[in-house]
Amino acid sequence: MKVMHTSGDWATKIFDDAQTLVLANGKYLVATCTSVDRDADAQLIAAAPELLEACRAAAKELHHATCRDNIQHTHCLRCRALAQVCAAIAKAEGGG
Ligand SMILES: [Zn+2]
Repeated sequence: MKVMHTSGDWATKIFDDAQTLVLANGKYLVATCTSVDRDADAQLIAAAPELLEACRAAAKELHHATCRDNIQHTHCLRCRALAQVCAAIAKAEGGG
């Protein structure tokens, strides 16, 4: 799978009392978080590459899983989960 974002390890760094940064490989600025919840926001952003890969792996497995309800997919956990991970992947890749 092609990496479309800054590659490498993403981690948070508290810059000062008002800013928490997300850095890739300790040197490339990915995001500057300034909200009240900046530390939590930065942690979520820093986890994004791993979350995206986890969604891609889950989508791949779910594609091969058997639908549990061929009539009403909205009641099928497999199909609901697949739709959720595909929507998350699309959002992460700019298509959602
Ligand atoms: Zn289904």
